[in-house]
Amino acid sequence: MPRALQQFSQDARVTVRRNGAPLPQGKCVVYWMQRAQRALDNPALDMAIRIGNELGLPVVAYFSAISNFPHANLRHYVFLNQGLADIEEDMAERNVTFIVRRPPGNSLEQLLEEVQAAMLIGDENPCREPERWRQVIAKRLNMPYWTIDADVVVPSNLFPKHQYMVHIFRKRFEPLLPQYLVPQPVIQAEKSWPHPKGFEAFDVRHDVTEGWSKFDRSVKPVDSFHGGTHEAQRLLKDFVTNKLANYPKERNHPELDGTSRLSPYLHFGHISPLTIALAVEDAHKNKHASREACDSYLNELIAWRDMAVNFVKFVPGYDSFEAAPEWAQKTLREHARDTRDPIYTLEELERAETCDELWNAAQRQMLHAGWMHNYMRMYWAKKILEWSPSPVQAWETCVYLNDRYFLDGRDPNGYAGIAWAIGGVHDRPWFERDIFGTIRYMSGNAAAKKFDATRYIRQMEELAESAQAE
Ligand SMILES: Cc1cc2nc3c(=O)[nH]c(=O)nc-3n(C[C@H](O)[C@H](O)[C@H](O)COP(=O)(O)OP(=O)(O)OC[C@H]3O[C@@H](n4cnc5c(N)ncnc54)[C@H](O)[C@@H]3O)c2cc1C
Repeated sequence: MPRALQQFSQDARVTVRRNGAPLPQGKCVVYWMQRAQRALDNPALDMAIRIGNELGLPVVAYFSAISNFPHANLRHYVFLNQGLADIEEDMAERNVTFIVRRPPGNSLEQLLEEVQAAMLIGDENPCREPERWRQVIAKRLNMPYWTIDADVVVPSNLFPKHQYMVHIFRKRFEPLLPQYLVPQPVIQAEKSWPHPKGFEAFDVRHDVTEGWSKFDRSVKPVDSFHGGTHEAQRLLKDFVTNKLANYPKERNHPELDGTSRLSPYLHFGHISPLTIALAVEDAHKNKHASREACDSYLNELIAWRDMAVNFVKFVPGYDSFEAAPEWAQKTLREHARDTRDPIYTLEELERAETCDELWNAAQRQMLHAGWMHNYMRMYWAKKILEWSPSPVQAWETCVYLNDRYFLDGRDPNGYAGIAWAIGGVHDRPWFERDIFGTIRYMSGNAAAKKFDATRYIRQMEELAESAQAE
């Protein structure tokens, strides 16, 4: 391997999945874009460009839109599709060709052969299926394959074990921030890829799901979010200018628009956590927000979010009861026979038909906005534990609804959030009570004292009415 590449491979963001020297007859470096669906602040793309420039080769970025991605539906894909045009445009600015393909002609190996790749660069996703695909591809390839941890602020390789408590995790990553919370140079690809005439590529402005007969179209797209890097940048600017200063006061008010609402963009990789964190730091430097406001926001964006990635990476059963720590499993088992009244079916929960208007409002936000406020997500999951026949079933229900309806679902944050709310993960035992045992409880009455619950309920009724009128 050339010396420069050896040096690049030492970067903590890099996992060398298949070793070796780039193929000498190779004509380009391919970046297989999966999670980090953007051209800006994307360490995986940056690495592909760096290597391409070192080898004197152009870079081709490849995205394969697959019709059977686990639990994906029309709502998710419309958002994903909206982001593709921004990627193409921003890649062109960096002199990188962006190729999208769909089934049946979307085999990665076929593409690598057609473009005569010298080497493959990918990104990271700790979730089960995407990780399995990376492992399978690594075994099958005949060229080096590296993946780059592009969607966390501090590379997850620097934490080789499961991190149990956020205050300890914070002590570990904070000393690393001066190294990782810094602007990255925008490197241009020196060589252009000579796009062969007639080379098969999908037009990113068309519907990628067209003709997919088995694709789940039962969850409709939402108007509340429009996918893409450019929209994410607009929302970020609005947040740091108008909302960040009040974040500590307003972040626990579901009836106010006091949070960034960037989670769908982070999930699809349309924006990097680094871009957001740096904009937040700048807002402080420019006196738009206090240190306290910035720290409060960065605590969510870096501490809790990076810890969710760590959780999914190290806990194999991250989306089930198995993920709960021993104390939590024990207490939930001890209370497994406690009377539950009422018990709701999955369908009743899904349709927001419970006796609790606050909970129904949260469920309506999930159904019709494809997103839910953090405070309500905690309450939502804990109530499902209270109303389900068993903790195992409650967990399954939460994961099912979370992944089906949220634009930011199917994400480490969702699995960690559910595990926290009903499985005591990253939390500690509290006072003993029915059903919950020592899992932290949240009451609707207490919630209603902290914010204007009546207003939130009304807002969600209006949201549901306008969605149903369409
Ligand atoms: C039961 C439950 C389920 C959840 N499901 C998801 C999910 O499917 N996808 C998802 O992205 N988040 C999930 N969360 C975490 C959190 O609720 C959302 O990330 C947040 O509400 C998104 O809104 P925002 O972008 O306005 O957040 P902001 O308050 O603006 O925070 C900025 C970013 O920090 C991160 N963040 C904020 N709170 C948390 C948290 N508690 N844990 C981890 N990261 C956090 C998110 O990436 C968020 O976009 C869940 C939490 C719980 C308790």
